[in-house]
Amino acid sequence: MIIILRPSASQADADQILQRISDCGLKPLCLPGTERVVLGALGDERKLGALHLESHPAVERVDAVLAPYKAVSREMHSASSVVTIGDFPVGSDRFFIVGGPCAVEGLDPLRLSAKVVKSSGAHALRGGAFKPRTSPYSFQGMGIEGLKVLRQVSDELSLPCITEVVEVADVEAVESYADAFQVGARNMQNFRLLTALGKATKPVILKRGMAASVEDLLMAAEYIVSEGNQNVILCERGIRTFEKGTRNTLDLSAVCQLKKLSHLPVLVDPSHGTGVREYVTPMACAAIACGADGVLVETHHCPQEAFSDGAQSLLPAQFEAMVNQLKAFADAAGRVI
Ligand code: PEP
Ligand code: MN
Repeated sequence: MIIILRPSASQADADQILQRISDCGLKPLCLPGTERVVLGALGDERKLGALHLESHPAVERVDAVLAPYKAVSREMHSASSVVTIGDFPVGSDRFFIVGGPCAVEGLDPLRLSAKVVKSSGAHALRGGAFKPRTSPYSFQGMGIEGLKVLRQVSDELSLPCITEVVEVADVEAVESYADAFQVGARNMQNFRLLTALGKATKPVILKRGMAASVEDLLMAAEYIVSEGNQNVILCERGIRTFEKGTRNTLDLSAVCQLKKLSHLPVLVDPSHGTGVREYVTPMACAAIACGADGVLVETHHCPQEAFSDGAQSLLPAQFEAMVNQLKAFADAAGRVI
């Protein structure tokens, strides 16, 4: 339910109502707006009826949220949310560019790729220390050692870093080294992991599962936000279809849907979305046109030697060219890089 307060309502009114929501076993949510305060109550809505909040003098009206997801819906929060990574406001008029290798492979290799990300003018560094691989025989990542390498390179170049967390036991370690978590496609419905991330404070980039609907993705985001961590960014990274020419089918119409249904920022990952190096830059440009707030792109200093995802990783010169090309598209869309 959303409880819209009158413009004259005080902070004390809001606090008192939030307390009553919490006392009846529902999760209270405070969504301060520019003109008035909106409160939310998550959980069994029948319990709220007993409070008769519609007759409270500070309350203008009480509305039901019709979507099955509540805290992440635009019904609950009509203004777009901005989530800060490092000091970059994701979801603002600035278009966010994240670059880096699929996996952290060591200090020297990461440094080489990260220098290209930095000199191109991109805003953050990616790299997996824990890699969820289809085959148990493939490189599984450097683990904690990889997190340390990522932090060191990130500090050296003043680029905030993003890395994947694959299990609950690693949440604390990943949070202590990285500036933002990534939840991979294979873990989008790992509800225990999502709940644990809801108790963390760093931002979470939540990737769409390869067989997940837009509603499934929003319900997964709800697991995180309803636990208290509001810093969630959604990411379209392609879904499985009958198409064989690309690794996945990048569903850019999902970006339009997500922006309409939710207030959360939305990124596009054209690397996993296509799996083909030459399609990455055009799809990144298209991401701007369809209203995405940024892109997550794999690049490697020497893709033929990459431990994973070399075929979809941009060469250094291609990454630089992509950032330059994105500037023109961003300009046309009224965004800045
Ligand atoms: C990745 O970003 O390297 C990755 C494994 O992504 P996804 O979960 O989208 O496959
Ligand atoms: Mn990858």
